[in-house]
Amino acid sequence: MAELSPVLKQATPVLAARGEGVHLYDEDGRRYLDFTAGIGVTSTGHCHPRVVEAAQRQVGTLIHGQYTTVMHRPLLDLTERLGEVLPEGLDRLFYVNSGSEAVEASVRLARHVTGRQNIVAFQGGFHGRTMGAAALTTSGVKVRAGIGPLMPGVVFTPFPEAYRHGWSQAEATRFALAEFDQLLATTSSPRDTAAIIVEPVLGEGGYIPAPPEFLAGLRERADKHGILLIVDEVQTGVGRTGRFWGHDHAGIRPDILITAKGLASGFPLSAIAAPAELMGQAWPGSQGGTYGGNAVAAAAALATLDVVRDEGLVANAAEQGARLQEGLRKVAADHPVIGDVRGLGLMIGNEFTTPDGRPDTATATRAHAAAAERGLLLLTCGPHGNVVRMIPPLVVDSAQVDEGVRLWAEAVQAAVA
Ligand code: PMP
Repeated sequence: MAELSPVLKQATPVLAARGEGVHLYDEDGRRYLDFTAGIGVTSTGHCHPRVVEAAQRQVGTLIHGQYTTVMHRPLLDLTERLGEVLPEGLDRLFYVNSGSEAVEASVRLARHVTGRQNIVAFQGGFHGRTMGAAALTTSGVKVRAGIGPLMPGVVFTPFPEAYRHGWSQAEATRFALAEFDQLLATTSSPRDTAAIIVEPVLGEGGYIPAPPEFLAGLRERADKHGILLIVDEVQTGVGRTGRFWGHDHAGIRPDILITAKGLASGFPLSAIAAPAELMGQAWPGSQGGTYGGNAVAAAAALATLDVVRDEGLVANAAEQGARLQEGLRKVAADHPVIGDVRGLGLMIGNEFTTPDGRPDTATATRAHAAAAERGLLLLTCGPHGNVVRMIPPLVVDSAQVDEGVRLWAEAVQAAVA
């Protein structure tokens, strides 16, 4: 009898049979409050009726209109619609299926257009598991260990991690920008450096928001040296952080933006956006893929964007995120094992630390499991797995946030008892 491979590691013991809004139900009908949203994907909640209706309609009309063979209406409509929410000037798009593919496509584009090789990535960053994306990833060694050699031409520099070093945001920013400058002066000359790739909130690496001054500093350096700034909005995009894009908090403009996850409420779809003059320098036919921009996924994305707008989900993410963070801070105040609560919008991490300041993975693991036992589904992140993260669907309401905080308080209490 065939079984699933143990290479897949499941964060919770739940066998999900059905999803509705912020809830998942197992085969016995037990209800779970889902603060994982399928790793930040089901932005409109599980099976939002408008997304379901759009996808069902498209399934009966055209499932696969292969976009390098024929074009189809859902992708044209989605492109026009994304134009309304993308940063000014990033008005040329193409599509693939996953975050990793979009990351690799952005690297292809940046190398192609600049004729330079190196990509600067940040220590602790996550950009995916395929070999090129894994080469950019240092959120935890399991993504890289034992599979090298990975894509060459990647250089790393520190991300501003204030809490880990006991620094202020300003100190962390100053340090990270100085290290960046040192990198260009010692290791990767600007003439060899094609792009910088950065997450507006370090995601898998520990849910650490980038200080706005840090992103502004990268923008300034990119402009000075003709380096492209790739902003990886795979996890932070489409309202997750309480602004439409995570980089909106810093008021900067990316040269290349990539989005996936929350874009299509669970259908595999990712997009790469850049200005026309940049896209125009790449060879036609140099990007693509069999399934990219699938018609059903595009229809679901269009419905997702409509729901995000019509239900005010970006504002809701800001409002409920603030409420959630406030509740979590109260729990942390009662439990010194939680050394830091941080995040933007509905992307919040609770970092567990020992009294002498080391990662407390054991207590974080117990709290995560105790939450699942109580019907609250969460994820962990960070290189040591000691950050418990909360990333609910953007439709979450006040009562559900409060219930989540209550269950979390119980789970933490059980973990430290
Ligand atoms: N970039 C970021 C910022 C991500 O969070 C992820 C997924 N967690 C990826 C890229 C990779 O996306 P995928 O798993 O769809 O390949």
